[in-house]
Amino acid sequence: MRMRKKKWAEPWLEAHADYVLTKPEEWRGRWLENIKGNILHVEIGTGKGDYLNHMAVMYPDEAWVGIEKDRSVAAVAARKAVEEGTDLSNRRMIAGDAEHVEEWFGEQEIDVIHLNFSDPWPKKHYHKRRLSSASFLAVYRRLLKKGGMIRMKTDNKDLFEDSVLYFLQNGFTFTEFSVDYRRKPHPEDAVTEYENRFMELGQPIYQLCAVPCIKDEDMVE
Ligand code: SAM
Repeated sequence: MRMRKKKWAEPWLEAHADYVLTKPEEWRGRWLENIKGNILHVEIGTGKGDYLNHMAVMYPDEAWVGIEKDRSVAAVAARKAVEEGTDLSNRRMIAGDAEHVEEWFGEQEIDVIHLNFSDPWPKKHYHKRRLSSASFLAVYRRLLKKGGMIRMKTDNKDLFEDSVLYFLQNGFTFTEFSVDYRRKPHPEDAVTEYENRFMELGQPIYQLCAVPCIKDEDMVE
């Protein structure tokens, strides 16, 4: 998501460091001791935060952490949450790049990783920046709890097809798979800003849920 830098963002983030954490590494391995919830969800690339904010309200007994690398976009998402006046005790944000995700979360700490409408990076040269690329999947494997999963939604067919291969080549299998996810109602799963846009255009939403199926020690590098 491209957004002009917001002048108010940095002072706002500084004033709300209890919600958009400045030192998330201090909670590494102890997130569920610090925020309310019995399982830990992490959404990478929250954009303006509609998904995180709705899901945290829909599932108040689960903990939700959003990561957004664009600090102005992160501030917009966080300000919405604060201004809505809903209970934030099961929700936090990190304004930073997911390339640092292993500094913030411990091994086998996360139950569900959400990748919603991630940037598709169509040029081959940039495929390694994709949040579903092999190097990210290797990190996610380490961070996921036993029984944990990665949930992905996208409008982008090429990204989806390539990601299916990345998952399979990196020891994951699928427990859910759809090439027209919103054809059936899914009231249990909030609509993201991008998803809403593509649904209004009548475009299909691709969706999958991936779980590790090969043990780390059996993975061939
Ligand atoms: N998830 C939202 C939605 O579905 O409406 C936003 C989708 S937008 C296309 C992708 C978002 O991911 C952008 O806001 C971008 O800044 C963020 N993003 C991309 N790469 C990231 C990374 N490495 N770490 C954190 N955020 C990232």
